[in-house]
Amino acid sequence: MQKKGIFLISLSLLFTFILFVFAKDDPSVLIRKPVLAVAQISALFGMILFSYAFLLSSRFSFLENIFGGLDKIYKLHQISGRLSFILIITHFIFLVFNYIQNTSILSMLLFPGKTLSYNLGILSLWSMCFVLSAILYLAIDYQWFVRIQSFFIIPFSLGVVHMLLISSDSSRYLPLTIFLILHTAIAYVSWIYKALLYPIIGPRFEYQVETLKVYSEDVVVLTIAPCNKKMPFLPGQFAYVRFNSIGVRKEFHPFSIASSPSENSIRLAIKTSGDFTTQLKTLKIGEKAILMGPYGRFCERFFGRKDAVCVAGGIGITPFLGMLHYLKDAKLPLVKNLHLFYSVKNWQTALFQRELENISYIEKNLSLNVIHTEKGGRLNVEMIRNTLGELKDKLYFLCGPKLMMEDLAGQLKRMSIPAKNIIYEDFSYK
Ligand SMILES: Cc1cc2nc3c(=O)[nH]c(=O)nc-3n(C[C@H](O)[C@H](O)[C@H](O)COP(=O)(O)OP(=O)(O)OC[C@H]3O[C@@H](n4cnc5c(N)ncnc54)[C@H](O)[C@@H]3O)c2cc1C
Repeated sequence: MQKKGIFLISLSLLFTFILFVFAKDDPSVLIRKPVLAVAQISALFGMILFSYAFLLSSRFSFLENIFGGLDKIYKLHQISGRLSFILIITHFIFLVFNYIQNTSILSMLLFPGKTLSYNLGILSLWSMCFVLSAILYLAIDYQWFVRIQSFFIIPFSLGVVHMLLISSDSSRYLPLTIFLILHTAIAYVSWIYKALLYPIIGPRFEYQVETLKVYSEDVVVLTIAPCNKKMPFLPGQFAYVRFNSIGVRKEFHPFSIASSPSENSIRLAIKTSGDFTTQLKTLKIGEKAILMGPYGRFCERFFGRKDAVCVAGGIGITPFLGMLHYLKDAKLPLVKNLHLFYSVKNWQTALFQRELENISYIEKNLSLNVIHTEKGGRLNVEMIRNTLGELKDKLYFLCGPKLMMEDLAGQLKRMSIPAKNIIYEDFSYK
């Protein structure tokens, strides 16, 4: 799925390159002046990827069909944002290099002067560095990390005007100008939607806390019931949740739904890992929750016919709980083998073991392995192979701590499992 989106972005870049070549009266200039050519094309690629970075952070739900789940979209957003910065810096360095012997142009590139188009370019670059440094070097929490990112619209806007005013292919060759304006429009629509409209017209549902249980193992399990309209969702999807409670910060945080869509209420199982999640212990029955969603495509291939191996690390069990309860509730005949490896520190932290055993008792093709890492060490692919016998021709669904997923995915790939058969749900966006 993600490939479709990556293909579209690559196509945009290819088209940009073609238009860039067509913009030249004499294309041999690209070979005669390679340093200038690199400076120009990196600026164009940089701005196109900058536009995509806005689109990918917009949370338009149709994007999930093109790029895969929201977690994949955010990863791609980070990559396109970083690449665009590198390309814009490359543009600047190569320009300086190209005009190193022309002091008048060089000073226009380096210092603000009388020419507006150059000044805007300088301002765009510096404001981009400024916003980036704030994100990288200030010790800020995730909410500020996201808020500050919306300020990237400033360097972007300055860059766009610079691009349209500067005497270059981007302003002289109409098809290229139109192509760039189109991408700029996509970026602005995305930014306006995310920053201004999403809180008002985004997919929003009102719930209230129905039950709450706090486990000593730093896990809060709560159910929330719809106040009026139920949020439709697929098993294993997640939603952004905010609580209207005095003791809890008014922030949206993503949580997987640990119950089946067939139930009226939604269950969340949350590990207290920071300020927001720790405050959830103080929630009271009846307090309101706002849900934005649903998001995610984790279950997309889970209900197919191919044998599946699910690996959950700790709280990473939540999407699997939703998917397995759905199997049981919908009474879907399980026409394949399903293996669940639930890796936990010790028996006290295996909060959902009993519940999973009950499902595996009903679903005969589901095998359950609970691994206590304190006793038996970390779960590895060798352990999985010893249980399954054969690793090939199966889908692998991983959800758990980042390091565990990366480690297992690496081991699986070394065992010749194709990357497309390894499906992750990533609980960390940063
Ligand atoms: C798709 C998805 C599903 C998740 N499902 C579950 C679940 O079922 N159970 C569970 O316990 N945890 C889940 N998480 C993780 C949970 O969202 C974070 O642990 C929580 O937001 C941390 O907030 P905090 O303020 O308590 O901790 P902090 O210490 O502030 O944050 C710890 C880390 O959590 C991430 N984070 C913080 N705030 C947000 C945010 N608003 N949006 C995205 N990431 C954030 C950041 O990577 C941050 O570095 C999920 C995360 C994602 C992305």
